[in-house]
Order: sequence, then C-alpha cells, then structure tokens
Amino acid sequence: MALLDELQRPLRDLRISVTDRCNFRCVYCMPRSVFGPGYEFLPRAELLTFEEIARVARVAAELGVRKVRITGGEPLLRRDLVRLVEMLAAIPGVDDLTLTTNGALLRQYARPLADAGLKRVTVSLDSLDDAIFRAMNDVNVGVDVVLEGIAAALEAGLSPVKVNAVVKRGVNDHTIVDLVRYFRGTGVVVRFIEYMDVGTTNGWRLDDVVTADEILARIAAEFPLEPVEPAYPGEVATRWRLRDGSGEVGIIASISRPFCGGCTRLRLSPEGQLFTCLFAARGHDIRALLRSGASDADLRAFIERVWSGRTDRYSELRSAETVGLPRVEMSRIGG
Ligand code: SAM
Ligand code: SF4
Ligand code: SF4
Repeated sequence: MALLDELQRPLRDLRISVTDRCNFRCVYCMPRSVFGPGYEFLPRAELLTFEEIARVARVAAELGVRKVRITGGEPLLRRDLVRLVEMLAAIPGVDDLTLTTNGALLRQYARPLADAGLKRVTVSLDSLDDAIFRAMNDVNVGVDVVLEGIAAALEAGLSPVKVNAVVKRGVNDHTIVDLVRYFRGTGVVVRFIEYMDVGTTNGWRLDDVVTADEILARIAAEFPLEPVEPAYPGEVATRWRLRDGSGEVGIIASISRPFCGGCTRLRLSPEGQLFTCLFAARGHDIRALLRSGASDADLRAFIERVWSGRTDRYSELRSAETVGLPRVEMSRIGG
C-alpha cells in the first residue's frame, strides 16, 4: 500500500540537500547583502554524514521513493560527493538518481559522477549573455565555464541534461529565446522557472515574476510551440515541443500555475531536517533520531508519520498574507 499524505499524494521523490554553502551568490537565492563574509554556515558536525543520508534514503525507498535528487547549496562543494552517489546508486528501488548544480565544477566531476552511478544532471544557467550571467551569479563566473560543464556531462552520458533558468523581470527576461535557440537540436531541454518567493532574503516582489504565459509567448514568437503530454503524473514542468521538431522546452510555473496537487516530494536538509514543502517554516528532525540509536523501523515510523500528516499546498494558497511568513532558505533546502 502506497504511503499517502492527507491530500492523497504518494511519497515518490526525495531531494537531498548536502550543503548550505555555495560558490555562487545568485541574486534571487543568496544575495550578498545577507550571505556575506559574516554569514554563519552550518558547522561540519551538524551535517548528516553520508552513512546517515544513505540510511534515510534507503528507508524512504522502502516507503515508495523512486527518484532521488542531490542538491544544495552547491552539491559539488561537498567533499567526496562521488562516494555518496555510489551509496545512493546502490539502494534498491531508486531508479532515477540525479543532481542539480550550478555547473561551475561540473567539467571536473561529470565523469566520476557518471561512473559512480549518477544518471542525469540539471544545470542552472540563467542567461547566455555573459554580462547578465555574471551579474546574476554575482561571483563573476562566465557562461563558458558552465557550457563546458554541460558538454562534459553530455560526454559522460549524464543525459538528458536539463538546463534550469530562473527568469527575473528586467534582468534576464529579454534573453529567454537565446537559450532556446542555442540548445535546440542538442537534446538539452531548457526549463524556465518563474521567480519564486522562496526564503525571506531575496526581496521577492510579484512584479519581478515573468509568468509562464509571457515566457511561452516570447518563445513562440520565434519558435512556434505545441504542448507535450506530461512524462509522468505530477511532473512539475509543463512541456512544449518546438514545432519544427528541433527540441523541447519546459516551464516551471510555481506562481501562475501551482502544482501542489501532484507534489510527491520530501526534502532532507543538510543537517537532517525533513521538510514536506519548499515553503515550510520548519522541518522534522530526523538527525536526533539517527544519532540516538534508532532502528530502521523507528526511522520508517517517523517518515510515515511526517508524510501521512502532510497537508502542504503553499503555492496554491499563496497570497498577500503568505509573502511575509517565515520559511526556510532555498540555499539550505535546495529547490
Ligand atoms: N546550486 C545548485 C544550482 O543552482 O543548480 C542547486 C541548488 S539551487 C537552490 C536549485 C535551483 O533553485 C536552481 O536551479 C536555482 O536556479 C533555483 N532557484 C533558486 N532560487 C530561486 C528562486 N528564488 N526562484 C526560483 N528558482 C530558484
Ligand atoms: Fe548557489 Fe544554486 Fe542558490 Fe545560485 S541558485 S546561489 S548556485 S544554491
Ligand atoms: Fe509541493 Fe509545497 Fe511546492 Fe506545493 S508549494 S508544489 S506542496 S513544495
């Protein structure tokens, strides 16, 4: 019997954030004004060990998880990550193992990650305009570095590679079509993400959001589009095929078309908190349990309790009242 939450949603995906640190300071995620030199990241002893992470993942797989995504912060900053990939790849039931990265270190890690059993990667790249990209990551990393990472991923067989681009009005919205033009014909699927009110530090305003309809209209003006059926129920991106057959794009429209009804994702933070929603204010501490000699049956009962009591549907309820509420930062929970 599938484990269902209060809204009858099964547990299918586990997103594991392995670090709260990042080598970028994307303006919409870790603005420098907050994540500056004085910012206190989690001390090492607070982080779950790889053994602890793999144990949670194994129990979650027994409860229905089929897809595991490694994220962060920047996951490739976590020392020895390849070893964690090996451990997760060996878990029975996990048939999709993937990772989201900003791509800066991907050239170096693509091959070892693939050899360790990683199936695919998603690379974030907000614009092909070098000046705009450097301004958005705010650490002066150029587009060429990320493109080399994507090439290395394709070469290592980590495909299909997906590219995520967050669209912020007045910042990169005029460069959307360039990404589509560049990646058509390569098999790389570009997915545009509506700028979200995650965390409480990015100064989010509804006016900064470019909606799915607007993004689609801009693309369709150059490349006519037709809808593609979802690959599986609950897929977060709506998919569109370029009518000339040269590729596909996706839109993740958390703001204008919320998809909570199909949300089957559980999130594990670097310090071992389980979150049932990207916008949750607090998590459920599984680390305490792990470090107090709990059995697998105890862990299982804990996850079952957390999931079965889940009622989250933040994006569907988003309103003027929800904007100021406390919630976890994106760089900790991992998107
Ligand atoms: N550092 C990795 C990366 O950037 O790919 C993984 C973690 S990052 C938090 C995961 C995804 O969240 C990225 O694709 C990023 O663009 C997206 N993201 C971060 N802040 C966002 C926001 N405010 N709205 C929408 N997407 C956001
Ligand atoms: Fe780092 Fe990713 Fe956040 Fe950018 S989006 S600051 S790369 S965690
Ligand atoms: Fe899932 Fe929460 Fe996002 Fe809704 S708002 S799709 S419940 S993570």
